[in-house]
Amino acid sequence: MNKINYQLAEFVLSAPTLANLPTDEGIEVAFVGRSNAGKSSALNALCQQKNLARTSKTPGRTQLINLFRLSEQCSLVDLPGYGYAKVPAAVKKNWQKMISEYLESRRSLKGLVMIMDIRHPLREYDQLLLAWALKAKLFVHILLNKADKLARREQTKILAEVKQQLPANDLISIQTFSALRQQGLEELQQTLNTWFSVHS
Ligand code: GDP
Repeated sequence: MNKINYQLAEFVLSAPTLANLPTDEGIEVAFVGRSNAGKSSALNALCQQKNLARTSKTPGRTQLINLFRLSEQCSLVDLPGYGYAKVPAAVKKNWQKMISEYLESRRSLKGLVMIMDIRHPLREYDQLLLAWALKAKLFVHILLNKADKLARREQTKILAEVKQQLPANDLISIQTFSALRQQGLEELQQTLNTWFSVHS
């Protein structure tokens, strides 16, 4: 298995619709998460870049799909966040349609990294996405982010609890993480290296 240098990540484009994405080839890994769980921070930590994914955004305004290239064949995709209470129903509906279509139809999509706040795991949309992803036979790696907010003992306890609530499925893996403290970075990189390995 080859190692990927995530620091080489380069912004390619922001796509307002699936039709604006580049040709469906190579391997893509998409980052998803409830707004404010730390999706941008996790991407920045993985790639060791401060501003790769912007961390201060107006809630509900960022409905774009952002694409970053790691190599000719490997890309990271930053999907629009979800769970904003104030977002109009039409926007939520549009998000659901776009994301479900992307998960079902994007052949190069290998897996999802789902970012959750360790203090608020497995909320409504997380469960929905997880179900869609498994239906589409995608890998799902869950980051219980902001682990630095809890003592190690508490982190371990929640990790075990969340594991129990997840469906038994070999496609799912989970770890504690802190984008702030760069905790769990190696485990994340190793998981993604295996997903990307065919083409790297
Ligand atoms: P996004 O909306 O999911 O992209 O979330 P952001 O990356 O913008 O992060 C939301 C807020 O959580 C920001 O204030 C971050 O500084 C903070 N944050 C992100 N990751 C961590 C972490 O690991 N630990 C702590 N304590 N705060 C974090």
